[in-house]
Amino acid sequence: MRFVPAIKDIKTYEAGKPIELVVRDYGVDPKDVIKLASNENPYGTPQPVVEALKGSAHNAFRYPDDSMFELKSSLGAKFGVGEKNIIIGSGSDQVIEIAIRAKCGVSSKILTSKTTFAMYEIYAKHVGAEVVKTASSEHKIEEFKEAIKKDKFDIIFLCLPNNPLGECLDRDDVYSFLEEVDEDTLVVVDGAYQEYAKRKDSKKSIDPKDLIERFKNTIYLGTFSKAYGLGGMRVGYGIGREEIIEVFYKLRAPFNITTLSLVAASVALKCEEFVDFSVARCFEEMERYEKFANDLGFEFIESYTNFITYKFDNIDSSDFAQWLLQRGVIVRNLASYGVNGIRVTIGKSGENDSFFKKAKEYLELQDSI
Ligand SMILES: *Cc1c(COP(=O)(O)O)cnc(C)c1O
Repeated sequence: MRFVPAIKDIKTYEAGKPIELVVRDYGVDPKDVIKLASNENPYGTPQPVVEALKGSAHNAFRYPDDSMFELKSSLGAKFGVGEKNIIIGSGSDQVIEIAIRAKCGVSSKILTSKTTFAMYEIYAKHVGAEVVKTASSEHKIEEFKEAIKKDKFDIIFLCLPNNPLGECLDRDDVYSFLEEVDEDTLVVVDGAYQEYAKRKDSKKSIDPKDLIERFKNTIYLGTFSKAYGLGGMRVGYGIGREEIIEVFYKLRAPFNITTLSLVAASVALKCEEFVDFSVARCFEEMERYEKFANDLGFEFIESYTNFITYKFDNIDSSDFAQWLLQRGVIVRNLASYGVNGIRVTIGKSGENDSFFKKAKEYLELQDSI
């Protein structure tokens, strides 16, 4: 059968491997499987959310409130923006898709850094748009400035901090770039890990209200999947000027998140202590990951997220990731991103112990060969 030609070019998104797969394929006991592959919050679902979900289960037969009034007003209050500045998506992924469909078609161009969140490219290719990438894997603001001098883009994606590498541009550099961007270019600021970045270094913090007030061609994306511990509920949001959100709404499917997801996100927003705790613990544990790399003599990228990226010279990341997988430790191999490295989500203390133990075994094995 023939399909749209542009689809040939699209790589299927490779999600972090589920625990079930490791149990099935390698016979590892489920309780020994450690999943450090999808940047979920290792401290789990916030307890008040668990309670609220139990109390709402009987409402599953109802369509959700499609105005999403309660969630939007809580988000609005948190960020100091109006409800008309907010769109809710089934994950911020869905808002990325809507942004692309609002701006791009065949002959459109988007700009990203060389190694960044894979969905920007995948959604762009859905509509036949061309993807231009900067030379460096990490975001280099000078390269973005050069690119917009040479070319006109429909969308520029800035992943702040960047997944899968973990680095983050300073807000001042981002703003100095935005001053130079054509008003007709939509700039998507993906803040999926901002809860982490802003607590580690205030220079990295991007305030959605300030962003959209200064730059009318920007949209800020946030998600409940990472620091808020709701990866399984699929809730994200976009914050932008009313003119933009109004257009995005035309492309949104009705009831695009579930009745229970709405409850979960609304309650999670009140769990600031949980987020504070999760982020603080994450960076404490991250120090152990940095020390591990230093001790064993390989590179890591300073991270403003809940994961760390290791880069290797003498080790093959695919082999390493596969070896760990067979022993129940799931990490993200970055070979498909063109990086000989792995991305490891910072887990709970005991999970990290297991990672270090197994990783060390593998590395010692390499040394002895
Ligand atoms: C996780 C992630 C998202 C979105 O996740 P959703 O679960 O779809 O909300 C968006 N951007 C980046 C960079 C991410 O890492």
